[in-house]
Amino acid sequence: MQKITSLPADDSMPGWFHTSRARTPRPAHIGQKRARFAIVGAGLTGLAAARQLATHFPDDEVVLIEAQEVGYGSAGRNAGFAIDVPHDIGAKDYIGDVTTANLVLKLNTLGQNYLREIVQKYSIECQMSESGKYQAAVSEQGIAILEAYRSGLAKIGRDSQMIAGSDLPEHIGTAYYKQALFIPGTILLQPSALVKGLADSLPSNVTLYEYTPITSIDYGDKVTLIHDRGSITADTLILANNGFASHFGFLQRRLLPTFLYGSLSRQLTAEEQARLGGKPVWGVIPAHPFGSTIRRTVDNRILVRNSFSFHPDGRPREKYLSQYLENHRKSFERRFPMLPKVDFEYTWSGAICLSENHEGFFGKLAPNVYGALCCNGLGITRGTATGKLIADLIAGKRHELIDFLTRSPGPNQTPPEPFLSIGVNSVLKWGQFRAGMEI
Ligand SMILES: Cc1cc2nc3c(=O)[nH]c(=O)nc-3n(C[C@H](O)[C@H](O)[C@H](O)COP(=O)(O)OP(=O)(O)OC[C@H]3O[C@@H](n4cnc5c(N)ncnc54)[C@H](O)[C@@H]3O)c2cc1C
Repeated sequence: MQKITSLPADDSMPGWFHTSRARTPRPAHIGQKRARFAIVGAGLTGLAAARQLATHFPDDEVVLIEAQEVGYGSAGRNAGFAIDVPHDIGAKDYIGDVTTANLVLKLNTLGQNYLREIVQKYSIECQMSESGKYQAAVSEQGIAILEAYRSGLAKIGRDSQMIAGSDLPEHIGTAYYKQALFIPGTILLQPSALVKGLADSLPSNVTLYEYTPITSIDYGDKVTLIHDRGSITADTLILANNGFASHFGFLQRRLLPTFLYGSLSRQLTAEEQARLGGKPVWGVIPAHPFGSTIRRTVDNRILVRNSFSFHPDGRPREKYLSQYLENHRKSFERRFPMLPKVDFEYTWSGAICLSENHEGFFGKLAPNVYGALCCNGLGITRGTATGKLIADLIAGKRHELIDFLTRSPGPNQTPPEPFLSIGVNSVLKWGQFRAGMEI
């Protein structure tokens, strides 16, 4: 019997969750249950896996188990960029090997198309907007990154448009940036509204249990998931719980739960919107990976996302919220001097699962246990795609992208504590220092 030593416990003010449609969560599981399939984690990956598995096996029950409420975890806390193009920060031109980059593009596009299809079919209101993204730079170093990325994107046949700083206010209101690369293809969306909608439109042979944290697990011919009020036994288990998979006994010291922080402003008044100018909806990704992500949302709020902390147990620390709210405030004031009295209504943190070699895990963890894990910060498209494909793999389907994912070496091993935390925290500190005014 494997005891789960750390459970999700996200903080209480995730802006996207509170500003999207309130829904009645599905009841927690009570008692004993048997099903052919069980999935742990109802984020983007688990929701996609459940939907696709239910389609492949219409006569079997698929049980989807979530510790918290759907839309409250990382899948509903992110910045809402559903990105198609690859961005390999280890490569000089951010694209690297063209064959690999084209496969990553295909994978991300599969995730995007699947989401688009479901959102349209079920009329999910999640502010989906085909806006593209601005990769924006403040420093000379950032501009060099944009130039390199433009040539990398051209290698895979993707157009992008360099925009001079003087023209940027027409696009994004602020005159803060010196240059930006506009890259079409990214979808912007309200992430918590999306996952709530995905959960409420699951096929009828999926049973979703919310507020059901799995506290221990028994592996064997069948897998038994135990929680405080009962247990669920399944023939096949899929782990779609991102960094928490290591607490289920797999990929230990390979998954690095790293916290990112976001703040969402109140809605801008009509007069403030006029003062800001620019397009009504846009999203900016920093040229430097440790800089600030900024968005203007469909409902006229400004999102600021920056700052990092590393917590191997996957649980947030309250003290960083007030500290990092200050960072968000400064980043906002630098960019939007024309909006002096706009406060943040919500500030939150959320975990992404990183690996040292930027590889995710996809495939078999044990004879009857599969995993689609570690999205390395790009879970909206990648999590959706890998969730769908893990169900295809279980159904015996072959696919060029399944072969691509199963060929991956997976996340590599990192040193033991305390060296791991010392190492990761140094990388985060150094990266944020180097990002300078891009924060
Ligand atoms: C601030 C921030 C900004 C981001 N921006 C972007 C972005 O713009 N674009 C993008 O693509 N990605 C972004 N990400 C990353 C993205 O949110 C993640 O990659 C995505 O959520 C991964 O989805 P997932 O379903 O694999 O895992 P998760 O969303 O982490 O879902 C896993 C679920 O498993 C549940 N779980 C864990 N343990 C148990 C247990 N014992 N019992 C039951 N349930 C359990 C958790 O509660 C959780 O809901 C961002 C993340 C953050 C935090």
